[in-house]
Amino acid sequence: MKRWNGWGDDSVIYPLPPSAAAYLEELIGPGITPKDVSLAQALSAAPASRLPKHPLIVDDRLTRLNHARGHSLPDWVALRNGQIGTFPDGVAYPLTDEDVRGLIRFATQSGIHLIPYGGGTSVVGHINPQPGSTPILTVDMSRMNRLLHLDQPSLLATFQAGISGPDLEAQLRAKGCTLGHFPQSFEYSTLGGWIATRSCGQQSLGYGRIEKLFAGGKLESPAGSLHLPHFPASAAGPDLRELLLGSEGRLGIITEATVRVSPLPEEEAFHGIFFPDFDSGQAAVQQMLQARLPLVMLRLSTAEETATTLALAGREKLLGILESYLSLRGLGKGKCLLLVGFAGKSGFVSTYRKEALGIAGKFKGIHAGKTFGQEWHKNRFRTPYLRNTLWERGYAVDTIETATEWSNVDKMISYVDEALRVALAGRGEKVHVFTHLSHMYPFGSSIYTTYIFRLSEDAEVTIQRWQTLKNAASRAIQKCGGTITHQHGVGTDHKMYLPEEKGLLGISAIEDLIKHFDPSGLMNPGKLL
Ligand SMILES: Cc1cc2nc3c(=O)[nH]c(=O)nc-3n(C[C@H](O)[C@H](O)[C@H](O)COP(=O)(O)OP(=O)(O)OC[C@H]3O[C@@H](n4cnc5c(N)ncnc54)[C@H](O)[C@@H]3O)c2cc1C
Repeated sequence: MKRWNGWGDDSVIYPLPPSAAAYLEELIGPGITPKDVSLAQALSAAPASRLPKHPLIVDDRLTRLNHARGHSLPDWVALRNGQIGTFPDGVAYPLTDEDVRGLIRFATQSGIHLIPYGGGTSVVGHINPQPGSTPILTVDMSRMNRLLHLDQPSLLATFQAGISGPDLEAQLRAKGCTLGHFPQSFEYSTLGGWIATRSCGQQSLGYGRIEKLFAGGKLESPAGSLHLPHFPASAAGPDLRELLLGSEGRLGIITEATVRVSPLPEEEAFHGIFFPDFDSGQAAVQQMLQARLPLVMLRLSTAEETATTLALAGREKLLGILESYLSLRGLGKGKCLLLVGFAGKSGFVSTYRKEALGIAGKFKGIHAGKTFGQEWHKNRFRTPYLRNTLWERGYAVDTIETATEWSNVDKMISYVDEALRVALAGRGEKVHVFTHLSHMYPFGSSIYTTYIFRLSEDAEVTIQRWQTLKNAASRAIQKCGGTITHQHGVGTDHKMYLPEEKGLLGISAIEDLIKHFDPSGLMNPGKLL
């Protein structure tokens, strides 16, 4: 069963090896585990529903609790502490576009706010109901999960937008295709959610971000229905797909999406390469990108992240052998791990692997074989389960992400890492910070920083610590000229930083757009702007 106050299925546990626990304790001190409220206590906080009855709406407390919060750190604190705040008054499960239009009519007539809901995996407050006197209806799209049409010669697949990652891939794979979109939240996140948040999958280097994969679709809005045809290309004025990308549920509900798929690759391989330092790793990946090698993934960890990855893996004997080997080859404390992904026809994969390894060799990169890459691939959707384990040990984990041009990457990493590292010093708390470059482009890269700090027994204190950290890192990002988010979106947690990025004219243009589709302000109020 899906956990109500943590990540994923409750039968999946990601244990923390004893050496990893000791490593964390040495870095930031012993964890203090706060006492969680029980499910019964959390449910007792739900007020009675304010919605009129409707055949598509359920309003039991458990369903409402399960749709009240996403997966940001404040969401976890709220759920585990039982201070959930506002609950949706009900949850509707439409099956068809007509159901969605009916729900929008019902909301318009009855003065109800609507929150489109995909998998609820938002990490920035996208799906949280806002307090107020207006009843709130969450529209859970999970039953709109069918493959409607596959145009195999054109490699175009049309799905209902509530389909989850695993269901979408399973249906495509049965026909020899893949979308290649694998965010770490793949297990639960949905096609509609990916579009509405501008999501980016782990293999975006090969398959592209969701912007590139989204070919057309349908939006049901309070102002009417918008159909976006899926031309291969068009010069017919502004591209209206851009309106839906990043719309965060403010314009309406995406009911259908056509995506550009690829034939399943004959072979897929992920390899690990160690570099003596971050500069050499960066120089190598830039050259691989500029050589336009058809790679599907490049992920370069800083020395701090490399050390943390190795320590958290806990396989001391095996890692001891690796450390000795790398040290014989001249790689010490500053070493950085690069993961490279290849996919395609077998012959091409081996050619491109040779090319990539040749470039890595020029920068003193040492090929560590497939083990690291395979381990990463095997665990890539399991890693979020570690967050449950760490919480139970008294540690909070959160991430912050941005993107900037290559010439600014080093400065950005040092500003953000430093801002986080010292943010809680005044409160006597240490923060463990580590970073990787996850999605790379010829002209720059995304920067993904993880920070671990201690929970307090007092939820208020944990939230204050998080706010201090989030604010320090976000200000550092803006000071360094990065975007406030490369992939997680705006929601509630980033909206205060948006005017600086978009400018006042830009913000008022977005406001006007929202008013155009939703004149009465029914759709997901308080998010994005
Ligand atoms: C452990 C973890 C790992 C993650 N890894 C990644 C990652 O690798 N890459 C990445 O990009 N993100 C990642 N995320 C963030 C999150 O998964 C993405 O933002 C994802 O796209 C959200 O999809 P969802 O279906 O869960 O949407 P939800 O969280 O349900 O909703 C997000 C927003 O989209 C809107 N929305 C959802 N469906 C529709 C629809 N049909 N029509 C209109 N609006 C809609 C909602 O109103 C809301 O504003 C991660 C999150 C977690 C918890």
